[in-house]
Amino acid sequence: MQIDSLFVNGRIRTMDPARPTAERLGVLNGRVVGLDGDLDGVRAREVHDLGGAPVLPGFNDAHHHLHLRGRRLAWLDLRAEVVGGLDELYAAVRERAATLGPDEWVFGAGYDQNKTGGHPVARALDEAAGGRPVWLEHVSGHMGVASTEAFRRLGFPGGRDVPDVDGGHVARLADGTAEGLIQEQALQLVYSVIRPLPTDEVLEHLRLASDKALSEGLTSVTEPGLGAHDMLGASPSDFHTYQLARSRGLLRLRTTLMPYITKLHYLDGFSDPRAWFGLDLGIRTGFGDEFMRLGPVKIVTDGSLIGKSAAMHTCYHGEPANKGFMQFGPEEVHEVVVAAHQAGWSVAAHAIGDAAVDTALDAFEAAQLRMPRTDPRHRIEHFGVADDEQVARLVRLGVIPVPQGAFISELGDGMARALGPLRARQCYRMKSLLDAGAVLPGSSDAPVATGNPLVNIHDMVNRITASGQVFNADERVSVAEAVRAYTHGSAYALKEEHC
Ligand SMILES: [Zn+2]
Repeated sequence: MQIDSLFVNGRIRTMDPARPTAERLGVLNGRVVGLDGDLDGVRAREVHDLGGAPVLPGFNDAHHHLHLRGRRLAWLDLRAEVVGGLDELYAAVRERAATLGPDEWVFGAGYDQNKTGGHPVARALDEAAGGRPVWLEHVSGHMGVASTEAFRRLGFPGGRDVPDVDGGHVARLADGTAEGLIQEQALQLVYSVIRPLPTDEVLEHLRLASDKALSEGLTSVTEPGLGAHDMLGASPSDFHTYQLARSRGLLRLRTTLMPYITKLHYLDGFSDPRAWFGLDLGIRTGFGDEFMRLGPVKIVTDGSLIGKSAAMHTCYHGEPANKGFMQFGPEEVHEVVVAAHQAGWSVAAHAIGDAAVDTALDAFEAAQLRMPRTDPRHRIEHFGVADDEQVARLVRLGVIPVPQGAFISELGDGMARALGPLRARQCYRMKSLLDAGAVLPGSSDAPVATGNPLVNIHDMVNRITASGQVFNADERVSVAEAVRAYTHGSAYALKEEHC
């Protein structure tokens, strides 16, 4: 028998408890076909001597916004490692604007007001960009800042008469004009103008992000939310763009694509108009092949901790009137989760605050009571703040938590400030989840935090914030547990653990 490639002399970790290590590995048609003794007497077209190097399975990121990451690779980079304070941020905008025509947008992303000392404001952006429209996306993706010319293009000259939006927030000056900052559902005011992005642009973003991810050792990612360009996604035809990227060889990772909840609807043609909730033709979770397939449906129920917009049971530290807010009311979450569950979907609910976590768990429990399904693999994206009872209940309901590693180093100081010392102990738990019996995937939420899997694994193990504080030492996991999360755990989240 002849195989394609034989790798010898490696320190191979298989992630298979029955056979955890090996020295030789054979590949045929892109698949691992044998280890060590299985390969005795087998010829190979290529033999690679690994010289004793460690070998791990390709990393699998369970929550990675590939197209957004690519877009940020193309946009002005405002992350804390690039710009320090607001003065530097405005200087970076000025420099970028100077390279653009007088009518062109200045797009930037990645700033964190916890690091810059505050959100940028429209008036300073007007000056920096020479009156050009500016849109700067916050590192969380849950908010951003517009210049006065940007507000004019959104239909609000001078930043006047910007409406309030349910589930969102527009920061205002004393006279009621917009200050610049726009949060959560109010982002639709912006997205309805700057999106949909042209297909060629998204293809380029996917190419940039795919190349970057491969260089970091990722071979599979789940794209958590597409198709709703007013919320998550680049365009209403996102899946087409992904297919195109794949067929042109630009997208070289295995991808699982989540449609956003607002794309699902009750299907026409049944005698009971509420008989079926989903995408047209009844296409649902699992459709596709091993390289590109439909994942769970995504619903964003609340906001972010560093933006203090995640829905909490009690107020943010030092802000006695602010408990954050839900983007959908509990009844709405309940209705769509139950309907999607009944139609055979897995549901991935973004829930960061402990109140949002309860809403999501209530909805999953109600769905199983209405129609028991074996192993539906519902998940809670982030699972940011949870007490012991919520951890136990998640495990009891078989729900998969999807917390992020590099949130600790990149956002940990801001999260600790938002929560105060006591609640910070319930934040981004990992070891407690494993101890309680949950399967833990590995994920980054790139580009909210770095997509680099080794940095995320490092943070799962060390849990040290940018300022050097240990963030919940009790929640540290071992290197082996973190690597298992980034391979087996993420595959489990997609019901691919046996593939
Ligand atoms: Zn995300």
